[in-house]
Amino acid sequence: MPSFPYCRRFPLLSALFLVSCFSFAQAQEKKKAKPIIDVHVHAMKVNPNFASDMCPWFLSSMPGSIPGADAPSFINTDCAHPLKAAKSDEEFQQKLMETAERLNITFVASGDAEILHRWKKAAPDRVIPSIGVASGMSVQAFEDSLSNGFYQVMGEIAPQYQGMSPADMSLDEYFGVAEKLGIPVGIHMGTGGNGMANLTSPKYRASMGNPFLLEDVLARHPKLKIWVMHAGYPMIDEMIALMGANAYVYVDLAGFIWSYPLEEIHMYLRRLVQAGFGKRILYGTDLMMWPELLETSIGVIENANYLSEDQKRDIFFNNAIRFFNWDAKNFE
Ligand SMILES: [Zn+2]
Repeated sequence: MPSFPYCRRFPLLSALFLVSCFSFAQAQEKKKAKPIIDVHVHAMKVNPNFASDMCPWFLSSMPGSIPGADAPSFINTDCAHPLKAAKSDEEFQQKLMETAERLNITFVASGDAEILHRWKKAAPDRVIPSIGVASGMSVQAFEDSLSNGFYQVMGEIAPQYQGMSPADMSLDEYFGVAEKLGIPVGIHMGTGGNGMANLTSPKYRASMGNPFLLEDVLARHPKLKIWVMHAGYPMIDEMIALMGANAYVYVDLAGFIWSYPLEEIHMYLRRLVQAGFGKRILYGTDLMMWPELLETSIGVIENANYLSEDQKRDIFFNNAIRFFNWDAKNFE
């Protein structure tokens, strides 16, 4: 039946206009957005003191600094429409869920367990919880968490921020659990460290984002499904070589599609597709505190005029269905 609220609220009056109500509802149903899977969302508590607005593509200028001067923060608000940061957990959740519903987005989210449970309760069909390896977490505890049914994905694994390779043996048993359970793993590689070594993450090493570091992990765990978060940016040649050699490796576009200069983003994405990997690119945002970032990031792919509509649908949806081994019907 029609879902137009006017028709529900005034049933008698509406009876006179049944046809128009019905066709309005039909039109609304037809307009339901095609499903999108965002494989990279962060569930974190909003800290109002650090929740600052942000201009997308802010890394268009990286002037650096000199020792002794203030380390530069690259995030800025010097643009026509800075994205507003949510100021509370409630505001973030409400706007995130409203946008996800409107744009038909389902998202893989990792981070704060309390927030994740709240989100899952609020929108069970929109949220797919993912678990990282918390420091001090035993392999058994990790396996138990993955076996109890709440978590379906492993990530974000980000040893790069500790200056550590993903092939470090301290992570190996956790990858072994994911391989055994058939759980896909998202590993941070590449971008995310601009100026960070000078700001908040002195152990961060750019070299630990080299996609080739995954070769030993893949050799030790031949059935492990890995997706390289941030597509190993900017190491496109290594990324392509790794995907060429390993059929189960996918990439996501998170983070760099809204932070680096647009031409740079499109050069990178275009090269991945041109090299033949259009079926292995997953859509993702790296959303942290700016709800409008969902629209911003979708727009980048929609406006990529070198991609066909089919290629865009692959990136937004089909590739994730295949990689995670989900049923597309559950997302329509
Ligand atoms: Zn990351």
